[in-house]
Amino acid sequence: MKKTITVLATIALISSCASPIQTDSRPPDALTEAPTGSFASRFEQAREDPDQAARFEALLAALPKGGELHTHLSGAVRVDELLRIAKQKGELLAFAHNQTEFCGFANGHLKLDEGFDPKVAPAVCQALPFTYKTVAEVEQAANPVLLDSVHDVLTIEHNEGDDERSKFKQFRRAFGALDALTDNPDNIGDLVASVMNDAYRHRVSYLELMLNPIGRKRVAMVGNKYQEVVVPIADTLDIIQQAINQTNATLRTRWHSDGRYLPAGTKPGSWPGAWPQPVEVRVVIAGLRTRFAQPGDRAGSNQANGPKFPAIECVNNICPHRLKQAFYLAASGNHDLVVGIDLVGLPEVDYASGRIPDLPIEDVLSDLRKQFGDAPIKLHTGETLEPARSRHVAEAVELGARRLGHAFALATDQGAQDAVCRYRVPLEISLTSNYRLNLVSRIADHPFDDFYRGTTCGTAGVHHPVSLNTDDAGMFQTDMTKEFILAVTTFDLSWDETKQLALNGLLYGFMNRDDKAALVNRWRDEIRALEKSWQW
Ligand SMILES: [Zn+2]
Repeated sequence: MKKTITVLATIALISSCASPIQTDSRPPDALTEAPTGSFASRFEQAREDPDQAARFEALLAALPKGGELHTHLSGAVRVDELLRIAKQKGELLAFAHNQTEFCGFANGHLKLDEGFDPKVAPAVCQALPFTYKTVAEVEQAANPVLLDSVHDVLTIEHNEGDDERSKFKQFRRAFGALDALTDNPDNIGDLVASVMNDAYRHRVSYLELMLNPIGRKRVAMVGNKYQEVVVPIADTLDIIQQAINQTNATLRTRWHSDGRYLPAGTKPGSWPGAWPQPVEVRVVIAGLRTRFAQPGDRAGSNQANGPKFPAIECVNNICPHRLKQAFYLAASGNHDLVVGIDLVGLPEVDYASGRIPDLPIEDVLSDLRKQFGDAPIKLHTGETLEPARSRHVAEAVELGARRLGHAFALATDQGAQDAVCRYRVPLEISLTSNYRLNLVSRIADHPFDDFYRGTTCGTAGVHHPVSLNTDDAGMFQTDMTKEFILAVTTFDLSWDETKQLALNGLLYGFMNRDDKAALVNRWRDEIRALEKSWQW
């Protein structure tokens, strides 16, 4: 169902952010493409013509989609890929005592008789004993009930009967079931490779992956017992960097043969040299505010952050709180891969649990800024229909958020609008995620077009810095092509609006200025090549 909207003849292109706290996320310059009148009008004709639907979707599949700024590594991997990785790594699947309810992945080395408690299950499954099966056993079972249970737990469907809290409970259960597989640093490289391949398939050239490299654990034999052992942060980040390099080396061999649009006149072989990274990846360290604020995490038996990060090294087996560790890594220049911090969770939980180290989080952040310099911070906020929680959007802006994840409550909260609109804080919108978690009954009811076209901020016609994202592509069974098809066809986006939406995923990324400029230039070249060569 399409909304009736005023199609803007020209759109005001966003060239900078007004916020004084966003100086280093300011885009290099605005989109200054030559007029694409005939392409733009063909685009709108095709969008409205049911006979051209398949060809129109093919165009959106081919669209260079810029960057994706809101994607959680654990939730991004498709179920078939999770099972492939689990099979390859010898991970097991745990089912509850009725033997059919999937509880979660379990470490393949587990030896209950040697004292290792796998702790695989979310609370809902704490019904011992568990039954452990290999992926092959589940796949080969004559009865698909086990495999169906795995899919049911790991994917989230929209269900009109569920309320917001039960939906988020289901969501947390899915993450709980993934823990043993996705928290293990020995699997993280395979997860990164999987999401990079998906990004390449959907023509996303920059990925800002949200994950937590701090305090990752693997199960290893220590003495004569299996134990969980904390892996140094530097080691986990090295595993991620190696996976990025290897995946890009493989993708580069496909660079000229898979139909990617290249600038006219590009000599064969010259493009990879000019742009050696098919998918640029950066890490945003994400974590629950409560966990991040816990002081004095105990290090594992072989924990040693090493001389690489002396400012956050554990002393006498006691580590600084995770926010300090994350902030140090994200502060400019301390680690090439880490570009920002994402705080997840509700502020009142921090205070209720009394887990704030010594000071309120705003004071902690202020101290860290003095100590390490600035680090880009974004927050998940306003992902709710509950009025009592919508005020968190304005609080997130006060904390210095450079971007906001979801900010759905912006549609109805005046305080949120005052804060976000005043500073033009960029928004990361995930249509399918909000739909699957029942924030809207249908995509057409999403306030996306009011956010993007500036109506919410009272600046209709001046587009707000909005990017499009999957959030958890595997869990919500979506991808960037589907998100663009949904946004363009539901809200009747023009060609210029569609391009700007893709470009925003680069303009508001936390990567350094030079990398951003290179990515934006490459994106422009690919857009020009697409416009030139597309056969309607
Ligand atoms: Zn998210």
